[in-house]
Amino acid sequence: MTVTVRFAPSPTGKIHVGNVRAALWNWLFARKSGGKFILRIDDTDVERSTADNEDRIRADLTWLGLAWDETFSQSARFADYDVVSDALRAKGLLYPCFETAEELERKRRLQRTRGLPPVYDRAALALTAAQKSAFEAEGRKPHWRFKLSCAPVVWNDLIRGETIVDTASVSDPVLIREDGMYLYTLPSCIDDIDAKITHVIRGEDHVTNAGVQIEIMKAVIDVRGAGALPEFAHHSLLIGADGQGLSKRLGSLSIEQMRMDGLEPAAITSLLAKLGTSEPVLPEPDLMALARGFDFEKVGRAPARFDENELLQLNAKILHEQPYAALAARLSAAGVSEKLWEAVKGNVVRLADAAEWKGVVDGAIDPALEDAAFCAKAAALVPNDPLTDQSWDAFVAAVKAETGAKGKALFHPLRLALTGREKGPEMAAIFPLIGAEKARARLKGARA
Ligand code: GLU
Repeated sequence: MTVTVRFAPSPTGKIHVGNVRAALWNWLFARKSGGKFILRIDDTDVERSTADNEDRIRADLTWLGLAWDETFSQSARFADYDVVSDALRAKGLLYPCFETAEELERKRRLQRTRGLPPVYDRAALALTAAQKSAFEAEGRKPHWRFKLSCAPVVWNDLIRGETIVDTASVSDPVLIREDGMYLYTLPSCIDDIDAKITHVIRGEDHVTNAGVQIEIMKAVIDVRGAGALPEFAHHSLLIGADGQGLSKRLGSLSIEQMRMDGLEPAAITSLLAKLGTSEPVLPEPDLMALARGFDFEKVGRAPARFDENELLQLNAKILHEQPYAALAARLSAAGVSEKLWEAVKGNVVRLADAAEWKGVVDGAIDPALEDAAFCAKAAALVPNDPLTDQSWDAFVAAVKAETGAKGKALFHPLRLALTGREKGPEMAAIFPLIGAEKARARLKGARA
């Protein structure tokens, strides 16, 4: 058996930390197993799906390093869906219903007032041929429901363990709308069987769907005369650091936004690979190393906490631990030399922060004098160029000897005058990059 998994986004919006976790876990599991990772575009909703969203999804996955082995779109497979749905109709498993949305809502309200679950009553199954023709003559078009078995569906979920969905407590799902549009369920089941998907890995918001889909998949296997049910792994959903669900904030947690904010893809994948597992979150730029460590046994059932600060810290660590060579192209595009990078990397959260320090080193920066007289004395003690890694210590010792200042009173005004900032990288590393001339000018309160 070749492990075959799929990530199946609908191109109706952007991908975000919530759904990219499913993409990542599918990818990691495929790579660990030497299997296949399919990107399936669930674009049966032609009104809401756009080519632009699809392009963005592909760009986001590519940026994260989650290359797919195969890809296809559901919109290219309507002929297959028609063949299967005709066969399901012939078997009486797909039946026409004529209720309007208002009629269905009225039924549900009535059930609620009687304390009954709002499950479709299957009135349409009792329609005679004459009644159906009468509806059609009125101009009503049917929508089509799948007839569930009303029995419990049981599977051994790779994350949740034994899971039961009683299809008696679920409405027969509408698979085809009155305008002929396929909803996601049937195409997804047909595709999972036809593409020989071995494992469906996704969020636990799909658990009830899985019960329904297992019944539909069995019917599809029957129609196709071949195929096997996949295994299922439903992971818990992410919550925010405040313990609240993320759904309202997902717009700002899109992968595209994170890319524009200058985050490293490896920070996102390092975090999402381990969130909700029994393993610690560590910076791991090598996706294959994450894949080797991936194991459903380590995945917990509790909601996993997504904390943006943790992501930023991880981003910083990823940058600090990378050798210059790995970042050279991007740094030199930002004008940041190896020497400057080595000096400032400990103070960088995003790569772009290094460019800010380039501005500090190259100038000009606005004067920031705490004690003009003290700084003027210091200016006279700046050694001549070329400054070296030892120059700072020699300079500070000279200023101390001349002024008697020590500790914070010695260092703080110097740092502030030389960099315009209260905090920052080791002055010993940054002083030679500023150079003697600019250092003197800044200490004298000039814009330099
Ligand atoms: N298009 C579905 C979604 O984005 C796919 C769910 C699944 O993985 O089956 O929710």
